[in-house]
Amino acid sequence: MGSACCGRNYEGNERMLLKRKRGSSEDISTLLSPPPELTKNYIGLPNRFEHQGSASICVGLAGIENLGNTCYISSALQCILNTQPLIDYFLAGVHEDEINPKFSGELTRSFVELAKAQWLSEYESIVPRYLINLVWETAAQFEAGKQNDCHEFLSYFLDQIHEELNRVARPGTPSVIENNGEKDERQAAKAWHEYLSYNCSVIVDLFQGQLKSTLKCSECGFISATFDVFMYLSVPIAKKSCTLEDCLLEFTKEEILDGPEKWFCPCCNQKCKATKKFDLWKLPPVLIIHLKRFKYNKCEISKLESFVKYPTANLNLTKYILSNQKEPPNYDLFGTINHSGTNQNGHYTATCKNKHDQKWYHYDDEKTKRVNLEETVTRNAYVLFYFKNSIDQFFTQSSRLPEYWPHILSKDITVNNTENDEQRSSGLATDFPNQTAELGSFNTIDNPFDNNI
Ligand SMILES: [Zn+2]
Repeated sequence: MGSACCGRNYEGNERMLLKRKRGSSEDISTLLSPPPELTKNYIGLPNRFEHQGSASICVGLAGIENLGNTCYISSALQCILNTQPLIDYFLAGVHEDEINPKFSGELTRSFVELAKAQWLSEYESIVPRYLINLVWETAAQFEAGKQNDCHEFLSYFLDQIHEELNRVARPGTPSVIENNGEKDERQAAKAWHEYLSYNCSVIVDLFQGQLKSTLKCSECGFISATFDVFMYLSVPIAKKSCTLEDCLLEFTKEEILDGPEKWFCPCCNQKCKATKKFDLWKLPPVLIIHLKRFKYNKCEISKLESFVKYPTANLNLTKYILSNQKEPPNYDLFGTINHSGTNQNGHYTATCKNKHDQKWYHYDDEKTKRVNLEETVTRNAYVLFYFKNSIDQFFTQSSRLPEYWPHILSKDITVNNTENDEQRSSGLATDFPNQTAELGSFNTIDNPFDNNI
C-alpha cells in the first residue's frame, strides 16, 4: 500500500480509509435529500437520474486510491456508484432484507459502505481496502497487483452482487425454451419467465435485457431461435473511425458459419453451413455497452484505437430492436469507462454524470476533476453506461408479475405453469412469505397481460 494511504489526513479503520475534503462540514445529513422510501417488495425504483440536490454540498466526488494496478476496479466502481436507482436501493437499506441466505453478503455490504462514504459525506478520496482485498481473495482471475480488464471485472462484480441478492432461494440453471412455431414475443416471454424463476434481483431489474439469437441451416432452411438474457452488449468496432450505431449494426449483422464453424443442424442431423444472427429484443433500464477494443489472438492481445462517436443524449435504438418496446428505447449517457495506453501498459479512468449536481466528472484513481460535456466523448471510451430516459420508474422483474415485464402480450396468452414451476413457487412462498401474500393476487396461471398484440 502506498504511503499516501497511511498519512495522517486519513480517518477510518481496516475496512476503509477516508480523506475528508478540505473545508467540508462534519454533518451534511440535513442538506441531503433523503433516498426514496423503498422496501423489499418494491414495485419500481424511481428514475431520478435527472433529480438535482442541494447546491451547497458536493457529494459523489471522492476518488478511489490506487492500491497497485487497481484502476480497473475503481473505474468500474465509480460507474456503478453513479447508477442512481441502484444507489437509492442500497442507501434505503433494501439489500439487508434481500441477501440470499446461501451467501454472507460480504461483497454487497462492503460496496454499500463505499456507496455511503461516497454519497453521504464529502470526502476527497477513499481507500476501500476491505472490498479490494475481498475481490483479490475470492476471484483468482483478479490477482493482487496485476493489470486486468475492467469490463471483465465489471461483469464479475455485477454477477456476484446478483448472486448475493438473488431473491430466488434455490438458484439453478434455466432450461432453454425452444421455438415450436409460437409467436416470438410469446416465446421470449416464456424464456424470461424461465429465467426469472431462477434469477431475480435488483441487478436483473436494472441491467438485464433479452437478445434473440437465430441460427438458420443453409441446406434445409431449418431455423433455431432462442432468447438469451444479457447484462451488457459487447459490440465489435466497425471501422477505424465509426459511430456507435455502426457498431450496433455490425453486432446485429448476419454471420456465416462455414468450414470448421459449421453448425450441427438437428433437422439434417449433420454439420451444415448456416447463418447466425443476433437481434436486440428487450432493452434494460440501464444499458451497458462494451466496445470490443481488445482482440485476443492465441497468446497475443491487441488494442483497436478507433474513435467511436457516441451520443451523450437521446440515443434512440428503435431501428436496432426487432420487437416492440413498452416505452421508447431512448437513452442518455451517464458514465464511461476509459482506457488509455496500450494493452501492455494501460490505465483506466471513469467519466460520470453526478446525480447530485448533474455535472460531469473525470475520476482518475484518487483524483476527481470537473469536465465539460464535450470531454465525455473520447477515443478512449471502452464501456458506456446509458439509462432509459423515457420512463419514470424501473419495474421489479419477477416471474409472478408479468405485467411489469418488458413483453407485450395479449390477455389470452398465459405462461405455462409446469409442475416444476409450482414446486419452485411453493419454495418461494415458504422463503418469502410476505412477498407471496402481497403479490398473491397475481399468479402465473391467470396473468393480467396487456392486450396489445
Ligand atoms: Zn438443416
